[in-house]
Amino acid sequence: MFVNDCLNINEKGHLTIGGCDTVELAKEYGTPLYVLDETTIRNTCRAYVNSFKKFYNGNGMPLYASKALSCKELCRIANEENLGLDVVSGGEIYTAVQAGFPMEKVHFHGNNKTADEIRFAIKSKVGKFVVDNLYELELLDEIAGEEGITANISFRIKPGVDAHTHNFIRTGQIDSKFGFALETGEAFNAVKKTIKLKNVNIKELHCHIGSQIFDIEPFVTAAEIMIDFIAKIKNELGINIPELNLGGGFGIMYTEKDEPVPYENYMEKVSVAVKEKCSQYGIDVPFIYIEPGRSIVGEAGITLYTVGSKKEIPNIRTYVSVDGGMTDNIRYALYQSDYTVLNASKANQEPNDIVTVAGKCCESGDLIQENTKVADPQAGDILAVLSTGAYNYSMASNYNRIPRPAMVMVKDGQPIVIIKRESYEDLVRNDV
Ligand SMILES: *Cc1c(COP(=O)(O)O)cnc(C)c1O
Repeated sequence: MFVNDCLNINEKGHLTIGGCDTVELAKEYGTPLYVLDETTIRNTCRAYVNSFKKFYNGNGMPLYASKALSCKELCRIANEENLGLDVVSGGEIYTAVQAGFPMEKVHFHGNNKTADEIRFAIKSKVGKFVVDNLYELELLDEIAGEEGITANISFRIKPGVDAHTHNFIRTGQIDSKFGFALETGEAFNAVKKTIKLKNVNIKELHCHIGSQIFDIEPFVTAAEIMIDFIAKIKNELGINIPELNLGGGFGIMYTEKDEPVPYENYMEKVSVAVKEKCSQYGIDVPFIYIEPGRSIVGEAGITLYTVGSKKEIPNIRTYVSVDGGMTDNIRYALYQSDYTVLNASKANQEPNDIVTVAGKCCESGDLIQENTKVADPQAGDILAVLSTGAYNYSMASNYNRIPRPAMVMVKDGQPIVIIKRESYEDLVRNDV
């Protein structure tokens, strides 16, 4: 009935998540409130891990792209489910360290890692640096030398496959701030350059072709291009690259219009293409990493709000305002993202009212969704926005000095707070 399996309706007509009544959760913990279902998260992690066992002799590992939702509890779950971690900043490294994450399973991404971050990553024993550009390569080699280590590195490659939408395009030279271009020889020259560097050790190549992708075909094409490149490096430079990282980007369901494929189909198709290419070239199949972020936490999360004011503008539209907005979910304001909005207090009623759900911030563009169907929203009702587990809390801000909401994890009907609600005191903590 719902796009997300963890949701249901109870005898009171209230929306439930993971067996907990959302109206009760709102009463107990306040709103806005992020709620995550642990079972959904773990099941998705297992689907990815099992797909490697089933289709690739277990010769690979998913890394959780923690930028989707970086917090200690998610790091702990990723570790318990045998995932590695993809981090993009010193703050995400720090979060992983604080959670006791095994740092050798952490990949450090980013197109402008600072010297301080690189040093911190080395001290934290991060397993791999995904090098984005030549400036970083030299900086890393220098700092690794100072710290007396050899850094294991990967190179971020632009494979010339762009798949940010439902379609994908193969372009010669994609306009992207991330990575080394294949076409121009930039990537090849970077690999060549490592031969001269003493403090880096190239182990892997990486690509990431976009996000919220529903087709498997562009992933297969990208994997083939990467194997071609690994073979070229072996033949022309005699360098063996034993690992391949194919990035993330697997699509999830925000509304009924989205049709994600089962996540295991991905490794099923990609492994065939990789094995075939490798046997053609007579090279060993690489260890494969993938980096799902959104698909691990997105559908597992919802946001609860309390309805306040309502403004009917005749012949134009009806605004229903909630007690959060772009500070906890900026995705509509940023990219007009589609979301499903439900009246959690009246989940068994037909959604017949067409309304625009607005936030409480001082910005006209502070909207959660425009002209969407909700069942009779009235002041005091609890609204639920679905599939907000990814890129909501992690993009949250304190605009208008609004404290960030709490996050509750539910499991088999039991809620626990995994991130506390910010207080006004927290807001002035760094003011002097
Ligand atoms: C954002 C990102 C991911 C995760 O993408 P999702 O769409 O959340 O799966 C993985 N790898 C890299 C390098 C990224 O930039």
